[in-house]
Amino acid sequence: MVNPPYPTLTTQELDATFDLPYTRLPHPKYKNKRIPAYEMIKFSVNMHQGCFGGCSFCTISAHQGKFVVCRSKESILNEVKKVAQMPDFKGYLSDLGGPSANMYGMAGKNKKACEVCKRPSCINPEICPNLNTDHSKLTEIYRAVDALPEIKKSFIGSGVRYDLLLHKSKDKKVNDAAMEYTKELIRHHVSGRLKVAPEHTSDEVLKSMRKPSFKQFEEFKRIFDKINKEENLRQQIIPYFMSSHPACKEEDMADLAVRTKKLDFHLEQIQDFTPTPMTVSTEAWYTGFDPYTLEPIFSAKTPKDKNNQRLFFFWYKREERPNIERELRKIGRPELINELYSSNDRAWQQGANKDKKFENSYREEKNNRIERSQNKRSSQKTNERKSFNPNFQNVKPQKPKGKRK
Ligand code: SF4
Repeated sequence: MVNPPYPTLTTQELDATFDLPYTRLPHPKYKNKRIPAYEMIKFSVNMHQGCFGGCSFCTISAHQGKFVVCRSKESILNEVKKVAQMPDFKGYLSDLGGPSANMYGMAGKNKKACEVCKRPSCINPEICPNLNTDHSKLTEIYRAVDALPEIKKSFIGSGVRYDLLLHKSKDKKVNDAAMEYTKELIRHHVSGRLKVAPEHTSDEVLKSMRKPSFKQFEEFKRIFDKINKEENLRQQIIPYFMSSHPACKEEDMADLAVRTKKLDFHLEQIQDFTPTPMTVSTEAWYTGFDPYTLEPIFSAKTPKDKNNQRLFFFWYKREERPNIERELRKIGRPELINELYSSNDRAWQQGANKDKKFENSYREEKNNRIERSQNKRSSQKTNERKSFNPNFQNVKPQKPKGKRK
């Protein structure tokens, strides 16, 4: 039995739930053990619930609902102040986010139309003309948080929907607000790496996932690179991709390898489709049919088939080259071997080294940025304590415990 999502809360109701006296600590049963997932979120603030993206493989709209409900600015600022009082807070918020970072404040303009609407997604296959995609409230909150004396930097760790940023509304103010938000985000709220989830490059697979065309990702990357160049920043986009989703064949994965290589990505954040209850993707995967068209739909199910898809993510790894060449010949696409491994292109050979070099330069840039931001702030706030940046200062090297074997 599947129950419908709980009715959408009002802003006041949502604020009230966040006003409850949470300890912001892991359950006492963990007895002060270090919990990596907690370390990631302990200095983060959730600003809204719900998601109108409707991605076929995701359950968020099934349990949080399609309509986005937002906390008030006051409620968010109050929580930020509480986080700032936590004993080991050093001034850096790891996330001001939600299920999708930039859906805050967005809803249908005509609420009556939304009440009877049957669309599973407000933004796919195209953005609904009734949806208000104004980013200005969100920009205002980021700036209000950054203006607090306790905050040195606030980052956006939740995934950003670039299709909302690129959308061209009929209202010029909305388009200007999206551009302003994009600049604010890239200039001040990226911790070195910005998470986005194109999920695939093939239009057919993306359609089955209810995700926007990969062309939109390419366009967003151009904007991201341009702003980074203007600001003299060396930040990275970290794209998330998925293999073995219903409708995805090995040919699509070969296409994904070639197109992401052209964009100079060596993919790290990848996953293989896992059926999750209550999603359209799982229904297609289980039945073998697209539930809307009732047309048969292919899904890779055996470990061998799934692995043959997954290996295309790692075209740059030396040990995968023979397997990829074998698969490309098997699926009748030998011409792609040259695209991935042409004799005058050493990218795949240099894969591991290049990743290491990029990783180091990313760390260096992140350190410099944080240092610059601290210097700027200390000149503005004379009473402020010195930087406690955990990565570079006041950290004494720890002696390893026990003998090295
Ligand atoms: S009418 Fe448009 S904005 Fe409202 S729920 Fe439907 S798709 Fe979303």
